[in-house]
Parts: sequence; C-alpha cells; structure tokens
Amino acid sequence: MKYDVVVIGGGPSGLMAAITAGQNGAKTLLIEKGKKLGRKLAISGGGRCNVTNVLPDEELIDHIPGNGRFLYSPFSTFNNQSIIDYFESLGVNLKEEDKGRMFPVSDSAKTVVQTLLKELDRYNIDTLMEAKVDAVHYGDELHQITVDGHEKINTSCVVIAAGGKSVPHTGSEGQGYAWAKKAGHTITKLYPTEVPMTSNEPFIVNRDLQGISLRDVSITAFKPNGKPIKTHRWDLIFTHQGVSGPAALRLSQYVVKALDQFNVDTITCEIDTFPDRSEDELTQWLLEQSKNNPNKSIKQAWKELVPERYLLHLFDLADLSPMQTYHHLEKRKVIDFVNKLKHFSFKLNGTLSIEKAFITGGGISLKEIVPNEMASKLMDRLYFCGEILDIHGYTGGFNITAAFSTGHVAGMNAAWKALSNK
Ligand SMILES: Cc1cc2nc3c(=O)[nH]c(=O)nc-3n(C[C@H](O)[C@H](O)[C@H](O)COP(=O)(O)OP(=O)(O)OC[C@H]3O[C@@H](n4cnc5c(N)ncnc54)[C@H](O)[C@@H]3O)c2cc1C
Repeated sequence: MKYDVVVIGGGPSGLMAAITAGQNGAKTLLIEKGKKLGRKLAISGGGRCNVTNVLPDEELIDHIPGNGRFLYSPFSTFNNQSIIDYFESLGVNLKEEDKGRMFPVSDSAKTVVQTLLKELDRYNIDTLMEAKVDAVHYGDELHQITVDGHEKINTSCVVIAAGGKSVPHTGSEGQGYAWAKKAGHTITKLYPTEVPMTSNEPFIVNRDLQGISLRDVSITAFKPNGKPIKTHRWDLIFTHQGVSGPAALRLSQYVVKALDQFNVDTITCEIDTFPDRSEDELTQWLLEQSKNNPNKSIKQAWKELVPERYLLHLFDLADLSPMQTYHHLEKRKVIDFVNKLKHFSFKLNGTLSIEKAFITGGGISLKEIVPNEMASKLMDRLYFCGEILDIHGYTGGFNITAAFSTGHVAGMNAAWKALSNK
C-alpha cells in the first residue's frame, strides 16, 4: 500500500488534516485505532460538541495560555471564523453560547462528526479503523507505518495527530510522542491541565461542602511569598477531593506549575464569593438585612447570600453563631464574616492525574515546528497537529480550534509536499 499522505489519529486535528489533504488532491489514508472517529470531539462541551469559540484572534490566543502565540501563523490560514464558515457551508448551523462558545444548533455532536465523515467520503479518503499504529519508520523517499495486524503502509508524507495523554479511553494514550522522539523531537514536560484540584483541608476530607456550587466567583492562587499568581472568575464546585468547575479547571495549570516551581507541598488559594462588591458594601448590606428582620436569626436573614452549608462554614470560620439576631450582632464579627466571604482561603495539594485531566499540557516542542506549515524542522515530510503539540487552551472550544487549525495547515502542506515530490 502506498499513499501520498497518511494521517495517524482520527480526532478533530486528524480528521481536518485528512480532509484537507484529500481536498488538495493527495491520495490520503486516515488511521484510527478506535471503532469511531472523533470520540473526544463528540464528548466536548458536555457532549454537544463545542466546535470553536467566536472570540477575536487576539482574545482567542489569550485563552490558550499554553503557547497560544504560536497559533497566529496557522490562524492566518484557518482560524475560528474559517471553522464556522466551513461547517455552515456544509449545512451545519452553529449557535453562540456563553463566553463565545459555538455549538451545532442541533445540540448534537453527531451532526458535526457525521459531516466530517461525509467529507472523508467526498474526497475519497481511505480509513483504516480499529488499527493501532505501532511504529513509524522514517525513510529518505518514503516513510513506513507499522499497524498492528496489517501489512506495512508506505507514504510520502505522514501527519501525526495522535492527541495527548488525557482521557485515554477515547484513544489518546500518548503513543505519538515516541514517534516524534524517534524523528529527533523534544517532548516538553507533560502535565495535567483543565483538571479538578485536590486539597486535604479538613472541610474537604470531611466533605462538609461537597456538591456546593458557587456561581460567578473568583479564585486566586498565591505564590509561597503571598503574591498572586493568577485569578479566574467563573463557577466553582466543591468536590469530595477538592474543587472543580470551570474557574478551578482554568486555575489548575497554574497550581500544577507553582507546586513544581516552588517545590512545595501546597499552594494557598482564595475564593472571593462576591468579586464585584466591596467589603464595606457587603457589611452594610448584611447589617441592613438583619436590621429589617430583627427577630430572625442571621442564618435566616442572610439565607439568600450563599448556599446554606457554605454560609454555616463561613459562620464557623468567623466565630459567628448562626442563631443570633440583630440585637446581639457585633459589627466587628460581621466585618470578620465578610472578610471570609471575600477571602475564603485554603490550601491545594495537587490535582487529579493527567489521565483524568481534560487537556494535556506540554508536548512536542514548538521550536522544532514550522508554524505556517506544521512541518517538522528535523524530519522531511513529517507533520504534527492537535493536542500532541505543546499547545493547550482553556476548555470552551479553544483546544478544538487549535486542533482544526493546525490540522488544516498540516494536511494542506503535507498534500502539497507529496504532490510536488511526484
Ligand atoms: C471530556 C472532555 C471535554 C472537552 N471539552 C472541550 C471543550 O469544550 N473545548 C475544547 O476546546 N476542548 C475540549 N476538550 C479537549 C479537546 O477535545 C481535545 O483537545 C481535542 O480533541 C484534541 O484533538 P486531537 O485531534 O489532537 O486529539 P484527540 O481528539 O485525542 O484524537 C487523537 C486520536 O488519535 C487516535 N490514536 C492515538 N494513538 C493511536 C495509534 N497508536 N494508532 C491509531 N490511532 C491512534 C486516538 O484513538 C484518537 O482518536 C475536551 C476534552 C475532554 C476529554
């Protein structure tokens, strides 16, 4: 078997690379070890397929803290708007949701995946399913791919789109890094990102706050010297192991890096439950609430403030009895309580594993990749795209945008190269 382009991995980056290679006239094969293509794509955005994010390029890149700036070049060829136009031109209507996230109007991942599968057919792209690539052998004229239980496949160009190490049941188990290393590439340190964080504070171990969600709060991680590292604002949930929810997931990579950088066991973080209200404002408001309900306990009078178990926990921290009424309320203690509301501080000791993370941080070093081609600088006719690269963004369509964009550029350049060598 001989191809112009072989793409390894049928996630969003590999699907886009194969389609674009086929579109550009290359005889293309897509190899996928699973039974289905686009499994991780299908479970993104809560199973509705978060195809991209509509933010302008500059902001999009700000939401890709793992080397987003590298993407200026691939985005100049194929960016979020290109993804939107691409799907809409194929009849997939998209809608914008909060924070710029784009979803199919059908709310079904199937619509997106089926459309990509039809595109594979349209450009006569061969697919080899349930085919696990074992090795890639690089040659002067042709590269050769060894697939478990199949005859060897020769190809002019190879695109490695095998994903990271996270959520391995979707197929991405990190095998692609070895093929990149074999070509001389450096793999930067891999670490979990967009991952729930853990804590061994007694209130977590005792599950006092487990299941409580806080809406639109901010959470900040601090260096050991007390200086803030990063703040994220969004929803947060207390779990049986620590904290999760979008604000915590976004903060997680900074905590992972700080634990490593400062060689410490814990990093302090702080929740501001009301980021838009000052301590004075909150104190006045609480005092008024009590004054207007003088016979009600503060537990009753302030019950709208935050979920009850969280309220009771903060009462405890501020040494405030939940049953007292306005007549016995000491302003000094209300101020202390408000301080806890604005600066609820606790220690994080790590995160769940890379396998449980939404995204893998680190990957193939970008110094060794030509950004406008996604070609290897070290091996002729070798291309990379998607999460296997040292690029990671927040969830919200940013990783998928990076995957489609780098996939498009890799597929196009691999096809051009293969055809120009004929
Ligand atoms: C639950 C969840 C939700 C997410 N939500 C979002 C979100 O809302 N927004 C966002 O931007 N990102 C999200 N992501 C991340 C996003 O889905 C990934 O970044 C993206 O899928 C990466 O695309 P990829 O093509 O590089 O790799 P993958 O999608 O991981 O695809 C890699 C493919 O390569 C195949 N493969 C691997 N090794 C071999 C081999 N040896 N032989 C053959 N095939 C092989 C795998 O089977 C897999 O199909 C989410 C991830 C998860 C797990």
